[in-house]
Amino acid sequence: MQVPRKILMGGGPTNVHPRILSAQSLPMLGYFQEPLLAIMDEIQDGLRYLMQTESRYICLLGASGHAGMEAGIANLLEPGEKIVIINQGVWGWKAAQMARRYRGDVVEVCKEPGVACTLEELEELLATHKPAVLFICQGESSTGTLNDLSGLGQACHQHNTLLLVDAVCSIAGSPLFTDAWDIDCLYAGAQKCLSAPPGATPFMMSERAIHKLQNRRQPVACYLFDMELNGRYWNWWQERSVHNTGLITNWYAMREALAIVADEGLAAVWQRHSDMHHMLWQGLGQLGLQPLVKDPAHRLPCVNAIQVPPGVDARAVIDYAMKTYSLEIATGLPPLNTAIWRIGLLGYNAAPHNVALVTTAFREALQEQGYA
Ligand code: PMP
Repeated sequence: MQVPRKILMGGGPTNVHPRILSAQSLPMLGYFQEPLLAIMDEIQDGLRYLMQTESRYICLLGASGHAGMEAGIANLLEPGEKIVIINQGVWGWKAAQMARRYRGDVVEVCKEPGVACTLEELEELLATHKPAVLFICQGESSTGTLNDLSGLGQACHQHNTLLLVDAVCSIAGSPLFTDAWDIDCLYAGAQKCLSAPPGATPFMMSERAIHKLQNRRQPVACYLFDMELNGRYWNWWQERSVHNTGLITNWYAMREALAIVADEGLAAVWQRHSDMHHMLWQGLGQLGLQPLVKDPAHRLPCVNAIQVPPGVDARAVIDYAMKTYSLEIATGLPPLNTAIWRIGLLGYNAAPHNVALVTTAFREALQEQGYA
């Protein structure tokens, strides 16, 4: 099998860290053998650090980031209950689609692309709708928008609402404090700022979320991601038993990814993403390119949305970067498509040499089109 080498600077996946690639080729273990269970315990410790939580209800789900969305909605929401979903792009839109399939009473709040939410408007939504669940992305990667979540959990709990947060893209890329922000259910992504392969999705629940799960009137409609069953494998309850076979080599990868984050230190990891984001915009700004997100405080450092200037062929720029440098630049996702480019500064790839190469590729590709 021949696989070409690419420099992945789109919205994810990113290039896998070499330490993680080699961790994946370690020997297979049985799904309930002692050394694997010890690795699972260590993963839980690493996840608690990554998410800044003391919760014991923490684990990996065996599928890509969508698994976290599915598990969060399926376990927290009962049929007929109200869920307010903040739609700031593709991921909020998908959450609304999913919640309807679980027969939730969905209030979908659509925001203009690139505009973050304020705590005041979210408080107003909570007071008006008093939903069972509020869904929001910390980082909406389709538009490069970052929401400030501080104070939101406390606001939710005043109305008996559970706070469900998508941090697939933002985990390790932006500061996140699960316990201090009173988040009830959080899921993250492996293939973004953790530089791991897709497939192991970090997932966490608070005591409040567990209380809801244990007092449901109806069973969770998604068997694979029923957290009562998954939790048994991850030692959430007194007795440990297997639910489905763990994605064992993917878990080795996540174990190593978490060790890499701990080696560097979370504060340093957040700072590096922020520094690379500023370096990128300095370079792109000199070319006359503009961010989609107007407010600098609400720009996601790890996925950057760049407006395509009028008259420029977005696709030709992407093709130039790939042909010349094997460098991936992403388009927008529907409905933005070729209205924006997206540049990921994700984990291992968030480094000055990559940022410099991205800027060079844009400069040359735009020159080729006669853009001044
Ligand atoms: N949420 C966000 C914010 C994402 O960026 C992504 C992946 N791009 C997902 C959810 C879905 O994750 P996956 O593609 O790994 O299933």
